[in-house]
Amino acid sequence: MQKINVEEQLNILIRLQALDAQLYRLRKEREAKPKLIEELEARRNEEQAAVKGIEEKSKTNQLKRKQKEMDLQTEEESVKKLSTQLYQIKTNKEYQTMQHEIEGHKADNSLLEDEILAIMEEADSFSKELIKERELFAEAERRLNEDRKKIEGEIAVIDNEIANFESQREELTAQVDKKVLSQYEKVLANREGVALVAVKNHACQGCFINLPPQVINEIRMKDKITVCESCARILYIENDADV
Ligand SMILES: [Zn+2]
Repeated sequence: MQKINVEEQLNILIRLQALDAQLYRLRKEREAKPKLIEELEARRNEEQAAVKGIEEKSKTNQLKRKQKEMDLQTEEESVKKLSTQLYQIKTNKEYQTMQHEIEGHKADNSLLEDEILAIMEEADSFSKELIKERELFAEAERRLNEDRKKIEGEIAVIDNEIANFESQREELTAQVDKKVLSQYEKVLANREGVALVAVKNHACQGCFINLPPQVINEIRMKDKITVCESCARILYIENDADV
């Protein structure tokens, strides 16, 4: 087996880890962006549904009013007809019966008029609500369009940065021993983008477990790649005074 230069490999890994930390952060940021657009779309759709809901209620209200107005007209015609007939009546009893009937129709009319009034008041409040809801919808739509453009711009910037870091990464990984690289990348994937950590105060700076003296000695010897037994991250000494 070819002997690797541990110090040299670690120095490259330090630079690689710095790049990978940036890449990890950028990819997370990139991943979250479409969700922001989806949230804005959802809000816009909610407002749109609210407008539609009030429009439906308003339509029902108009139909109800039309129906009541027709009922009122029928009732009024009945009153008119009966009032004309009233003069042709001969007996007092018939007269009273018919007058009673007319009073009944008039009472119905009065109820219908009250109902129509209530329906008109309801229509008024629907109109006000509709104006408010349409404004909210327009605002949600405006925000969606503006922010979508902004977010798409940010995505383009992030994609560009990612591509940039990835090409730098390629140059670096070409200099890393294949076995070391595969070990590093496995930990990188399993440990949220942090595969290489320094030792400080006798502790792994990845999982903060205390490292036994022989592990620290092993790192100092630079004879092989040393990993934390607890989190499997590759360990190095950044500054001897910190250890
Ligand atoms: Zn650890």
